[in-house]
Amino acid sequence: MELIAENLGKRYFRKTGSANYFEAVHPVSFSLKPGRLTVLTGRSGSGKTTLLNLLAGLLTPDLGRVLADGQDLYAMDDPALSRFRNRHIGVMPQGQTALQALTVLENVLLPVSLYGDPAKNVGRARELLLKLGLGELISASPRSLSGGELRRMSIARALIQEPEALLCDEPTGDLDDENTRLVLETLRDTAHSGVAVLLVTHESDALAYADAAWHMNAGTLEIA
Ligand code: ADP
Ligand code: MG
Repeated sequence: MELIAENLGKRYFRKTGSANYFEAVHPVSFSLKPGRLTVLTGRSGSGKTTLLNLLAGLLTPDLGRVLADGQDLYAMDDPALSRFRNRHIGVMPQGQTALQALTVLENVLLPVSLYGDPAKNVGRARELLLKLGLGELISASPRSLSGGELRRMSIARALIQEPEALLCDEPTGDLDDENTRLVLETLRDTAHSGVAVLLVTHESDALAYADAAWHMNAGTLEIA
């Protein structure tokens, strides 16, 4: 699936100098193409998470449109957008989002529990966890996992629906070199299997894996 940002902008209402709003994302236009790992770098506070959430259908833009294979995300009503997102767009949010009361396997099955039957997806979830080196931890509590293992669990959860677009916010933040490499290789392989992958990061390690690279500077997009 191709995700296109068309003149996309977002401002937050907060007092900033003489203005009453802060322009987090200046109108930007670009596209995420299937089969490509697109890396977006930029300092903390440059608007990366805001842009990712706009593309994910999670944050309504003030300007412009997001087109997913030609479909205008924000022209859909809320239930339709939720369903569309669940089916087609995988999101790996910044930070830890594991539900501690569930096992690793149950965490991975969460997205399919929303509209589908998790029981039908257990095989696929196990397969994904095995591939990500978490085979031994399927029944464990996320509490007992390391940072790198938790991150890999989040990848499995974002991939369980076989999304056509995958948006990852700082997926290697705080990881050691070995886990960083594992995560970056997984995202590159996912992209090369035909998914449109966006990786947002304040570090530059990921650039070596990028098929396309952008840089964000105070809400403005530049080619890296
Ligand atoms: P990044 O992910 O690059 O660190 P963000 O998109 O999180 O950047 O934030 C960009 C800017 O927008 C920051 O200055 C941040 O403080 C501001 N910001 C983010 N979310 C909000 C919000 N809900 N309300 C007001 N300002 C916000
Ligand atoms: Mg961020």
